[in-house]
Amino acid sequence: MEWHQLSIEDVFAEFRSSRQGLSDGEAEQRLTVNGPNELLEKRARMPLVMFLSQFGDFMILVLLGAAFLAGSTGNPGDMLLIIAIVILNAIIGFIQEFRAERAIIALKRMAGQVADVLRAGQLKSIDAREIVPGDLVLLKTGDVVPADLRLVDGVQLKLVESSLTGESFPVEKDGRRLSDPRLPLGERKNMAYKGTIVSAGRGMGIVVATGMATELGKIAAMIQAEGEAKTPLQRRLAAFGRRLAVVVLFVCAMVFIIGYLRGESPLLMFMTAISLAVAVIPEALPAVVTISLALGAGKMVKQNALIRRLPAVETLGAITYICTDKTGTLTQNRMTVTELFLDGAAISPGFAANGAGGGAVDAESTLSHLLIAAALCNDARKDNGDNMTGDPTDVALYVLALGYGLDPLRLAAQFPRIAELPFDSDRKCMTSFHHGPDGIVSFTKGAVEALVDRAGGIMSAAGVEHLDRGVFIRQNELMAASGMRVLAVAMRKWDKMPGSISSDVVERDLTMLGLAGMTDPPREEALPAVSLCRSAGIVPVMITGDHPVTALAIARKLEMLEEDGERMLTGRELDDLSLEEFERRVEHIRVYARVAPEQKLKIVQALKDKGHFVAMTGDGVNDAPALKRADIGIAMGMTGTDVAKEAAAMILLDDNFATIVNAVREGRRIYANILKFITYSITSNMGTLVLVVLAPFFGMPLPLLPVQILWLNLLCDSLPGLALAVEPAERDTMCRPPVNPAAGIFAEGRWWFMARYGLMIGALALSLQAYASGRGLPWQTMVFSFLVISRMAMAVSVRSDRLSLFQLGLFGNIPLVGAIIITCALQSCVVWIPALNSLFSTSPLSFTEFSIILVLSSVVLLVTEAEKLILSRRRNSRVF
Ligand code: ATP
Repeated sequence: MEWHQLSIEDVFAEFRSSRQGLSDGEAEQRLTVNGPNELLEKRARMPLVMFLSQFGDFMILVLLGAAFLAGSTGNPGDMLLIIAIVILNAIIGFIQEFRAERAIIALKRMAGQVADVLRAGQLKSIDAREIVPGDLVLLKTGDVVPADLRLVDGVQLKLVESSLTGESFPVEKDGRRLSDPRLPLGERKNMAYKGTIVSAGRGMGIVVATGMATELGKIAAMIQAEGEAKTPLQRRLAAFGRRLAVVVLFVCAMVFIIGYLRGESPLLMFMTAISLAVAVIPEALPAVVTISLALGAGKMVKQNALIRRLPAVETLGAITYICTDKTGTLTQNRMTVTELFLDGAAISPGFAANGAGGGAVDAESTLSHLLIAAALCNDARKDNGDNMTGDPTDVALYVLALGYGLDPLRLAAQFPRIAELPFDSDRKCMTSFHHGPDGIVSFTKGAVEALVDRAGGIMSAAGVEHLDRGVFIRQNELMAASGMRVLAVAMRKWDKMPGSISSDVVERDLTMLGLAGMTDPPREEALPAVSLCRSAGIVPVMITGDHPVTALAIARKLEMLEEDGERMLTGRELDDLSLEEFERRVEHIRVYARVAPEQKLKIVQALKDKGHFVAMTGDGVNDAPALKRADIGIAMGMTGTDVAKEAAAMILLDDNFATIVNAVREGRRIYANILKFITYSITSNMGTLVLVVLAPFFGMPLPLLPVQILWLNLLCDSLPGLALAVEPAERDTMCRPPVNPAAGIFAEGRWWFMARYGLMIGALALSLQAYASGRGLPWQTMVFSFLVISRMAMAVSVRSDRLSLFQLGLFGNIPLVGAIIITCALQSCVVWIPALNSLFSTSPLSFTEFSIILVLSSVVLLVTEAEKLILSRRRNSRVF
């Protein structure tokens, strides 16, 4: 027998479960037997494979080959040293990659799905991986079904099963038993399969299969895993690396030929050329980018921004528009009913915000009807304590009823709910049907415009009267002007249940009861975050389903509107504009009101067409397309649906607007630090290349030996490189305009910087070689050490392209200070420890010799600092 053929009681019996769900102990036991509810993904790379892949680079293999050749022709010391350096390099690369991969895995775990289950009669939100067969799972709109379920019931439940059947049209589902054993999956209306999407309604089902035993698990191998997308920076670096490699290989070939012609040993020249190529070709840079992004993302999660797609970290710095929801993101999502309008008058509810202390209400009054409607047409729940769960709008109305002494649970038992039309953002209202003492009654609540035209009369003290729509609409605007969300509450009596529970049939001929106005104060952090956006060249835009007047009032409180007029567009106006017309106006709009989630796509598209980088927030199923289309889709962690989260590149764990702005700051810092490292590394390597290439042209001997070149590369790229990645954000990070990713790595004069200082370091090293060799000093050790120390100077000066070292603070980046000390200490070992002298062909330096190196290295620092000073003077004089 298939599950869909069994009665639900038989399924419960089969799994030794009940309508109360499993006990925690039982669930735990089943978890150990069945294993976690997850699809087996491509396994993470084994550490050994990761380590070995460090040697995969072609140039490294050639180098090792050359080292063996050197070893077998009488140079075993060199061979061992080169192998040791290459292994050390691989260990450092491995550690970094390993940490980055762990960070990514941890992020993935955190972004895992949460499911609502009933365990021993209690509603619990658990990690979807902990679901076991027999569990009772609750489904609501926007959920991704966490396991295969035999449905117990479904209320207007619709599932999109395209991931399984390819059919993108929603299928209606319920708990009725089906008899045909050969029904295809798409027609098993009482089953909900893992990975399908709840597009409307809600339901409950018993888990019949988890993990790889689910239908999705059976075809898991066929599902294409999302490939690891390369970030724009990585792609650009890889392309740059390829081009540079060609040039460098050519130059290195020249070095080899010239050296050979000058009578140097061919093996030595070959090794020198290869070492130089290994050192200068930036093959590791794309990996450095991944590592920085992954570690940065690991840090961002501590600030409540969970990155789902790594390239997002990089794109964050480029964002020019943040389109954000209002409720819960800009506001606290703590709604309280502060005003009621009924019987032609506005009143303040007479109770405290916690729902305490209302007076007795006349059962026949309009207020009594409105309170009953508020309590029954409501999906909020209260646990045994004082905790409320559910939509904050519902919670506010629930608390209102409690405050007047009503007990919504008792009411629900007295007037059981027999049918409903759940809330959706397009209709902007919801309806519930109840058995009452005099027959059937339906209550509808929702946006005033959505209901006012559907009501024929209004309840008053004198009975049902004609509804004056004008009065109602004016009152709505009056209340909305102070930032309130206003809901109309209505009812209708029925002789019998209508044949179809559709909005057209049910939500009409209503009797209006009154209005409930609820306030939701802005979040404290929102105002400073909005002003930070402004200074950072980012435009914050509010998109809300709320009334235009409410939206404007909140936007004004948050100073989102600029002086030159208040730019707002409603969903209807947006619909009436063609994309071209809209594109002409889009850059000026700051508030979108009464917008349906589907319209967000048009907003994203128009802004992108205008060349902007857009971050867009969303929580519902219908937000998903816009989240996917945006440069950064941001899902709400607390209120967001699974579907929105899966579509998003980032999840806001605290649903807070300020967190987006902090993430942008962090993204800018990480991006800037990657560029600093790239500048540092390429400039320094250019210096070495210039030295080695030009020396023969000035009739000088080969400046550096292969091991020295490799040591330089190992020593200077690893520790200072890591330290530059943790450089704190510069003070003016959020006072600069967004970075333009299309501008590339070499924009803003970076290319010129690298060329200039590369040449300068090379020229200084050549002069040192000429000077020292002319005076019989240990010139090679001096040049070698100069290159190390001048790199340290370079690391310090790339910390900022504007602020001087004194403005940044000498100890502004402690890890960098540590890295410099360790690097210098290691180089000192190479210079002053006799055993290493013979390995590295160095000789100890005297105090004077060392001082010469120090003075010469500080020239690099002095010149870069002087340049910053001149540039900042020029910038200031331009301002005044
Ligand atoms: P925001 O962007 O501010 O979060 P939203 O787009 O999420 O707003 P919705 O939740 O879709 O807005 O609400 C749109 C309108 O629907 C509200 O202004 C309100 O009038 C009505 N509404 C909201 N919640 C409910 C509810 N639980 N029951 C009935 N009507 C509701």
